[in-house]
Amino acid sequence: MIELHELTKRYGDTLAVDGLSFQVRRGVVTGFLGPNGAGKSTTMRMILDLDRPTSGRVTIDGKHYGQLSEPLKYIGALLEAKAVHPGRTARDHLRWLAQSNRIPPRRVDEVLGLVGLSPVAGKRSRGFSLGMGQRLGIASALLGDPEIVMFDEPVNGLDPEGILWIRNLMKSLAAEGRTVFVSSHLMSEMALTADHLVVIGRGRLLADLPMPEFIRQNSRSAVRIRTPQVEQLLTALDRAGLRAEAGPAGTYEVVDGDPTRIGELAAAHGVVLHELSPQQASLEEAFMQMTADSVEYHAGDGEGRDAAGAWGATWQPKAPRQEAN
Ligand code: ADP
Ligand code: MG
Repeated sequence: MIELHELTKRYGDTLAVDGLSFQVRRGVVTGFLGPNGAGKSTTMRMILDLDRPTSGRVTIDGKHYGQLSEPLKYIGALLEAKAVHPGRTARDHLRWLAQSNRIPPRRVDEVLGLVGLSPVAGKRSRGFSLGMGQRLGIASALLGDPEIVMFDEPVNGLDPEGILWIRNLMKSLAAEGRTVFVSSHLMSEMALTADHLVVIGRGRLLADLPMPEFIRQNSRSAVRIRTPQVEQLLTALDRAGLRAEAGPAGTYEVVDGDPTRIGELAAAHGVVLHELSPQQASLEEAFMQMTADSVEYHAGDGEGRDAAGAWGATWQPKAPRQEAN
């Protein structure tokens, strides 16, 4: 288990990570989601002791990274664009890593097989494609057969086949009971991979909850209605046990409403409708709205925010929650 306690990192004027506290548990894939610049890579570097926290602390199974002897046997990581000596072959790179962590040399060919690099094991990594480089990075992370694996934006720049392979690998590692911690700036990717979701923006924790719960909270639908006979409609809805909330530009919205039922109800009461439209907030929109204030640079000014706020002022994703357990 990885535990962060009020973890904070300041670079000059930039507060890259701001009092982060959460836990990454065994046996599930935990997605670490945030817009670019949110502080994901900085957090991961601090977990690996590659960057020193300004304050707070992070432990791996209760220990600081520096206290782990042969750390590759506890935690394996794929960080951004791995530094691999371009003149070395894939096998030599892994042998060198294995030796420095007292990992038996036979494990090298095992992990090369696991990531599908056996046919090019003797080739210099200089000629590797991005996907092959990622696979070599993952082979390095798995070399020590660690209980914890951590991947920073592993699918960036990969083709669909490579993306699917990484997704399935992470799921199977978690199914083996390992701790899997993976970052992404893409909601869609997390929705397909993660069992648990930690969302950050500007270095701060915005949400920490099971993925199905995030989906349940953020994929509600509503029916938007516009009518010149507001009083009659609201009364009719109320009598039918339906609650309408004020929507943008004089509209009303019935959360989880059924357009057919509402249309017929209006007709039965002689209410004229100028609009009757189903509204669906996507997970992507929920994520954009949740992090709208945390995005470093907006495309255009305000426009992007409005596109995300398709629900106008009527409906917001519930306030981000921090789960205690
Ligand atoms: P993410 O991985 O979520 O995109 P990062 O952790 O890379 O975010 O960056 C978080 C913030 O910290 C950004 O504003 C970034 O510019 C800043 N930052 C990251 N590393 C450094 C560094 N070595 N020196 C100065 N600023 C940094
Ligand atoms: Mg990053």
